[in-house]
Amino acid sequence: MAAVIVIGAGIIGASVAFRLAQAGASVTVLEATRIGAGTSGTSFCWTNAHDKAPRPYHDLNVAGMKAHRALRDEFAATPWLHENGCLEWADEAGREKQRQRVERLQGWGYAAEWIGAAELRELAPDVDPAAVGDAPVAWFPEEGWVDPVVYAQAMLAAAGRLGARVVIGARVARLDVRAGKATGVTTADGTAHFADAVVNCTGRWADDAGFEPGLRIPLAPTAGLLVFTPPVATGLDRVLQAPDCHIRPDGAGRLLVCRNDAEFDPAAAPRPSVDLPEVRDLLRRARVILPAIGPVEPEAVRLGIRAIPRDGYSAVGPLPQVQGYYAAVTHSGVTLAAFLGMAVADEVARGITRPELATFRPARFFG
Ligand SMILES: Cc1cc2nc3c(=O)[nH]c(=O)nc-3n(C[C@H](O)[C@H](O)[C@H](O)COP(=O)(O)OP(=O)(O)OC[C@H]3O[C@@H](n4cnc5c(N)ncnc54)[C@H](O)[C@@H]3O)c2cc1C
Repeated sequence: MAAVIVIGAGIIGASVAFRLAQAGASVTVLEATRIGAGTSGTSFCWTNAHDKAPRPYHDLNVAGMKAHRALRDEFAATPWLHENGCLEWADEAGREKQRQRVERLQGWGYAAEWIGAAELRELAPDVDPAAVGDAPVAWFPEEGWVDPVVYAQAMLAAAGRLGARVVIGARVARLDVRAGKATGVTTADGTAHFADAVVNCTGRWADDAGFEPGLRIPLAPTAGLLVFTPPVATGLDRVLQAPDCHIRPDGAGRLLVCRNDAEFDPAAAPRPSVDLPEVRDLLRRARVILPAIGPVEPEAVRLGIRAIPRDGYSAVGPLPQVQGYYAAVTHSGVTLAAFLGMAVADEVARGITRPELATFRPARFFG
């Protein structure tokens, strides 16, 4: 039985660990802080392939959505998965782009349709029609969102039932290599952990010190603000993509409001407060769309750092410099996790090359 170390217990590491254990590997997960402490705990978490051109990246995200859905057949309950669809409308300036995108998605066989006012009322009765105006509304019934930390815990528990070990508070300080082959890792406390293969699932830390400069995945991270309301009186149960404001439920009546495509400069406010003008503005926009939430104050704000490989696309595959060393680092990781878990396990534990990953190899960064 091959021994495999997975570094990082975010949504990607947890998925990879579960599928590796299922493939018969002896798995050890080493996590520096806690399960879901990284980007997976500060994400909008929308499962989609909405705007993920070119085609191979779109297809990868569709595979991610399908893999999440398929977990319903494998687990008695999937409380982390909310497949309630997404509604989108755009302002004047964005409508032509939206029309082209919907057309392209339909051409690719993706579930995307235009709906009228009556359907919008049925799908999201709390949305004020005046906030939408005469904007065409697109409906994506197969999209939704995932609670990544609930998901990661479930995957690691399932991996544990198959014999995997999860070590919390174990920061990997070094990859150990002998004669060009990974032999394991050494953690910050000096403990050596031996393995036949090592999978790096450290997300935004994949270019961090601790990994040899020649083994770091080059990243171009951006930051996003996530604003949480207290429990509010709305029955919204879908993702809303409105102009400059994206909203979804976050459990127990709370809403998560953000601009999922926008960047925030963390240098301006490394620990953003609920009093930031951007935070207030987001809630004001949410209130225009959902007047029923009333004059609510933000309850919390979090800063999320996106784990984006330098060219914007996933980096999943072996690193050519060291045999037995593999990376699974990506943005859109909430959508992709369930699929990547299976694909990485196929490649690392079963020796099966997955064609879906052909254009996403980390080797492209290493000449
Ligand atoms: C604002 C924002 C919005 C987003 N919106 C979406 C969305 O709508 N849909 C979507 O699909 N994706 C979205 N994403 C992206 C998605 O959240 C990430 O791609 C995903 O969470 C990455 O998961 P991960 O497991 O790779 O990384 P992480 O969750 O960051 O996990 C990495 C783990 O590795 C650990 N670690 C790091 N270094 C070490 C070390 N040396 N030793 C041991 N452990 C280590 C960390 O502690 C951490 O727990 C969004 C991200 C942000 C920031």
